[in-house]
Amino acid sequence: MKIQQAHPHPRFNAAGTKVVFTSDWTGYCQVYEAEGPEFRGCRRRSRRAREPTEGEQHVANETCRVAAALAAAWIGGPATGGAEAGAGMTFGPGDLCLLVGERASLVERRAADLFAAEVRRRTALDVPVGSVARAKHALVAGTAASGDEASAFAEQRPEVAKLGPDGYCLATTPDANGRLHVVGQSPSGVVAGLGKLLRLARYAERAVVVPAVTLTDTPQLPVRGIYFATHFGNFYHVAPLDEVDRVIEDFALWGGNSLTVWFDMHHFSGFDDPAAQAHVGRLKHFGETARGLGMQFGLAFLANEAYNTSPEPLRAKWLPGWPHYHVELCPSKPEGLALTGKWQAQILSAFPNVDFIWTWPYDQGGCACDQCKPWGANGFLRASEQLARLYHERFPEGKVWLSTWLFDSLSGAQGEYAGLLRYLREQKPSWLGGILGGTHGDALPKVLDERPDPERYPLTCFPEISMYQMSPWGGCGANPLPGFCGRLMDNLRERTPFVRGRIQGGWPYSEGIYEDLNKFLWSQFFWSPGRPTEDMLAEYASYYLCPEATADAVRLFHLLEETHPRTNWRVRNLAQAEEAWALAEALDARLPTWAKASWRWRLLYVRAAIDHVLKSNRHVTAEARSALQPLCDELVRLYHAQNTFIRPAPLPTPKDTANLALDHPVRVSSTHPECADSERMLTNGILAQDDPQDFWVHDPSKEKTAWVVVDLGESKAIKEVRLQFRGLYGQFWFVPSSLAFEVSDDGERFQQVMTSQAVPKEGSEYSPDLRTCEIGMKGRYLRLTLGASQHVAPPYPGALELTEVEVYGP
Ligand SMILES: [Zn+2]
Repeated sequence: MKIQQAHPHPRFNAAGTKVVFTSDWTGYCQVYEAEGPEFRGCRRRSRRAREPTEGEQHVANETCRVAAALAAAWIGGPATGGAEAGAGMTFGPGDLCLLVGERASLVERRAADLFAAEVRRRTALDVPVGSVARAKHALVAGTAASGDEASAFAEQRPEVAKLGPDGYCLATTPDANGRLHVVGQSPSGVVAGLGKLLRLARYAERAVVVPAVTLTDTPQLPVRGIYFATHFGNFYHVAPLDEVDRVIEDFALWGGNSLTVWFDMHHFSGFDDPAAQAHVGRLKHFGETARGLGMQFGLAFLANEAYNTSPEPLRAKWLPGWPHYHVELCPSKPEGLALTGKWQAQILSAFPNVDFIWTWPYDQGGCACDQCKPWGANGFLRASEQLARLYHERFPEGKVWLSTWLFDSLSGAQGEYAGLLRYLREQKPSWLGGILGGTHGDALPKVLDERPDPERYPLTCFPEISMYQMSPWGGCGANPLPGFCGRLMDNLRERTPFVRGRIQGGWPYSEGIYEDLNKFLWSQFFWSPGRPTEDMLAEYASYYLCPEATADAVRLFHLLEETHPRTNWRVRNLAQAEEAWALAEALDARLPTWAKASWRWRLLYVRAAIDHVLKSNRHVTAEARSALQPLCDELVRLYHAQNTFIRPAPLPTPKDTANLALDHPVRVSSTHPECADSERMLTNGILAQDDPQDFWVHDPSKEKTAWVVVDLGESKAIKEVRLQFRGLYGQFWFVPSSLAFEVSDDGERFQQVMTSQAVPKEGSEYSPDLRTCEIGMKGRYLRLTLGASQHVAPPYPGALELTEVEVYGP
């Protein structure tokens, strides 16, 4: 059997009321819809009414003090005095070293090295790292346990003893001995503290300016994670290891403390497949990197996952619309459950440390058979219990998070949330450590608040930052989504109290580096949920781009979100593309050399440049193609995306101006109400390879056959008509059984030209090549009648679709 290579992720319709599943012959287009009741009516409401706790208030005060001082000292001009952050001190060559304690852990040493490396990259200044001071001033970095200097500091400062898990204390006014301090409650706290200091500092040629701040800060949520999807040839899957390591290091410096990766079995023929072994090695390397930075490391598992060689008789049942590769196994077949377990155990045994695992219900996966349904409350739980047992045999202390992603969204799988809650109430499973709430939108399903024993089964979330309103993902560069992320943050703030044991944080879903800003936002939210989004955006802009241009950069982030929604080269709204481009060009001229060349800036810049080209060329000219080509090439280079769809779409096909039907009016006998006005797509010159969502569909509830009339404007000699049919899953779909052509000069009386049964066979391998039908007649109106659809089974039985009608003269 042919293995489907598509990755049919669901997304929301424009109104946010339905989940739309997408797949087509390229692996990407829409087909199915499912109701998304949990996400309905998500509106912004007032902030949480609960009074902040003393600890929260303390942190909030500290954050405000530092933010205000920074605004004064760095962003808005000179400090006006009295703030905890003074103007700072400039350190040049030989002025500053980094002092790590004699008992410092590897994590603390690594953090110190990262700090020095980042300063060097930006300034060419050498800040030596060691346990003996080699400069007049020394930045003492460590936990109180790591050395005498940090320990003495902690004794003088009662606030150090009060730090919560992973908190830190920054005191950067040099003391009498010329010491500055970053003291963490844990090694991870030292990493976060040094990261914060990097973001507060300013940089010049061979000089670093360290602001004089006093700040104690403790993260409010214990799970500050990121999920690297490690598949499909995306950045995490194929980039050189050291480039991915840099991303993990940055995340740790932001205060992140948890990394999840996935061994995606379907890529491989089996565990001994050399490619599978190489991938295990790669994931282990990321685990070592993460743990070496004080982070936790975990593996995602699909509960009924399988290699692409899985035995067909043991495979799971699926229904149309299910995101599935059709290789997954049915856990209600004993041999299927055993085989999944055997494979999962092999993977678990390959890793020396797995702090937690996820068990995942769908995408791909699930089983629709009678014994497994409803999947999320039945077969999924059985498979997950086995997975948890296999995991705890190897890692008894580890935690199992159960994902509810796509629950109650697929046809044939209703009652999943209710069934899961019943299972928690009645079975009180001890293997389960918590729930990973599924969402692709800007709200967590409310039903999760009703779970029993929320202290025992805490909640985390899985924010969407990668594929929202865009395909291909990252195909046009950076996708800043401060508004979208902010709405989910508001939903979490207002609805679920941030109490340990309730919402514990989460892992945003990352498919690559193009959503770096969104990652940063979530890392900051998990650290301090009360912090305003604008404050986080300013910190990112100031640190990664240019402190003096922070306001412009933040404006650019917002503009890029306005122009973000897109399918291939069709962008929904380019109204603000020119303002974004002007800002991007102005910023590019102002950035320091290191920032101008950085991938973070290039991804933002390329995105603004692409939108500018699309806006000024309406994406169809040869000039547009030549302007887009180098931008696309750069993205492919940055992503290492030689073999993935997480890269720019193929360049748009210029419209063929010899096509007499191009942009001419079309009338049709009916149009499906879900695709109103779609008949205009028949002559807009946009082919399926440029935009798979650009097609017309007739209304099968009204008629079995359908007709299309194209008005050429005046009577013309018609040599031939070329048609492009629809494809899905690599096959022809919704194809008529016959074609009939007629021409007319008045649009009333038509003259029969020819009929044809020469149409593609439904279900055969798709080709986007246009089919030519010889006409050899003259007329102003061309009428094409489509015979009954070859597509008779659900979904959309009887539907007739076409993507393009072209007309050519002799
Ligand atoms: Zn089954």
